[in-house]
Amino acid sequence: MRISKIDVYQVQYGLKDKRYAWSGGHAVTGFTTTVVRLSTDEGLTGFGEVCPLGSGYMEAHPAGVPAGIRELGPALLGQDPTRLRDVNALMDSTLGGHHYVKSPLDIACWDILGQAAGLPVATLLGGRTVDEYPLYRAISQGSPEAMADEIRRYRSEGYRRFQLKVGADPDEDVRRVECALAVTEPGDVVIADANTGWVPHQAIRLVNALRDRDYYVEQPCATLDECMVVRRHAPQPMIIDELITGVGPFLQAWRAGAMDGINIKISRVGGLTRAKQIRDLAEALGIVMTIEDSWGGDLATTAIAHLAGSTRPEFLFTSTDFNSYVDVSLAADAPRRKDGRLAVPTGPGLGIHVDVNRLGDPVFSLS
Ligand code: MG
Repeated sequence: MRISKIDVYQVQYGLKDKRYAWSGGHAVTGFTTTVVRLSTDEGLTGFGEVCPLGSGYMEAHPAGVPAGIRELGPALLGQDPTRLRDVNALMDSTLGGHHYVKSPLDIACWDILGQAAGLPVATLLGGRTVDEYPLYRAISQGSPEAMADEIRRYRSEGYRRFQLKVGADPDEDVRRVECALAVTEPGDVVIADANTGWVPHQAIRLVNALRDRDYYVEQPCATLDECMVVRRHAPQPMIIDELITGVGPFLQAWRAGAMDGINIKISRVGGLTRAKQIRDLAEALGIVMTIEDSWGGDLATTAIAHLAGSTRPEFLFTSTDFNSYVDVSLAADAPRRKDGRLAVPTGPGLGIHVDVNRLGDPVFSLS
């Protein structure tokens, strides 16, 4: 089987909640997502999606995706999409870095592989471990009271895990965590996610002020050294997110004893192939995982579902359903949240059917 055509689409998503804010004064009101369709000479087509959280969050920006695929596409035409390792090696030798550009291409190859095998991607990623799994809701940064109101609202929709966007003034962040804990119940999970926004003394003040409270701290500072300073002061379990850009950085953080959990964002590590490597290592090393992406809609949420649904449940800390945050659906049969949980698709490949009419005209096509 050979890749015979690559179509690249960009779609605008709005946020149902209108605005999403996190540390450092960052905020977005919507997203430009990129959808890739790979066609093959045997008639199978595969889809993948990458949706950067604006341009200021990670080493990714929406305009970079088509530009990167213009570099990669000519090398991929004629390649066998079911040879995932070869495809990834070729992408790496054609374009250094730029993991997020490679991610939708890798996901589309997994979609094709699954269809060719007649199996869901989750089966090929190691085997389905669960039929559904628990979700968290990201709570946009706002006043402590407004964030508590959002938790109440999303709790009424079934979520029991809440990731608070902190990483601002530490005194106000203490109040954010206190207000969140006041409106949650035993068994709920509260995560204070600074998205690298604190310098160590700010994080240390927060973990000291909330020393006896039950919550998690996620990526307090930008560097591993800074996070380690906080780690030495914090009794709370710690999750490392933004530093997990590949196997090497994951192992470096693990050797340092930096974390109890990691956040795997599929596009940040270059797609499902690399995310699976890190997922499998994390399981072996006793590290729990939030499995997700930088953002996305139906396609990204479905790719996440296959990886999350093939992860041993005791290591799947949580995940989220990005397709419920955005106001555009690209596949009517994509998994949808029910009672704070998401079902793992069962059809071959990604197991969903993208409505190409909703994608508009391609930004460009290669054949
Ligand atoms: Mg995070």
